[in-house]
Amino acid sequence: DLEVAIKVVVVGNGAVGKSSMIQRYCKGIFTKEYKKTIGVDFLEKQICHNENDVRLMLWDTAGQEEFDSITKAYYRGAQACVLAFSTTDRDSFEAIEKWKSKVEEEVGPNIPLVLVQNKIDLLEQAVVEQEEAENLAKKLKLRFYRTSVKEDLNVTEVFQYLTEKHVQK
Ligand code: GDP
Ligand code: MG
Repeated sequence: DLEVAIKVVVVGNGAVGKSSMIQRYCKGIFTKEYKKTIGVDFLEKQICHNENDVRLMLWDTAGQEEFDSITKAYYRGAQACVLAFSTTDRDSFEAIEKWKSKVEEEVGPNIPLVLVQNKIDLLEQAVVEQEEAENLAKKLKLRFYRTSVKEDLNVTEVFQYLTEKHVQK
């Protein structure tokens, strides 16, 4: 039977939780230490979707979030993308449109995207209003998820949604 493989790129400013999200989803773990991913391009997760095997390959940036330092190889062949920002980092929220343009420029305009606000467990330190985030999602016509990688909230849903979007294309 058919095996679907999907390359997913996860972009956003540094420290929003991209590596943590990939680790959480693929390995089921969360660590507090800020660790740069060394020598690994992506982690894999095998899921079953509508009775088909789907292999998600989640690509992590090697901590090169300086805007133009992410290599072409990172984006090449990407079939879905997470645009991530953090509840406690205003700049990361304001950078989302720039990340979206960058991805669409590198990959093409039809790539399935999803907007993710991570670190929702730190709401008392929030520097982004819920309404602002929802308005951005509306403006950019993106599905919006609020996640806590730490508390394992909504992470699976993000990748489930992207899988569905990919399969429906
Ligand atoms: P990246 O630079 O986007 O890959 O971010 P990291 O995954 O390295 O995470 C940066 C820091 O944020 C680390 O200390 C993580 O443990 C922490 N972190 C990631 N996700 C969450 C979350 O949902 N809640 C909280 N409180 N901390 C998080
Ligand atoms: Mg990282």
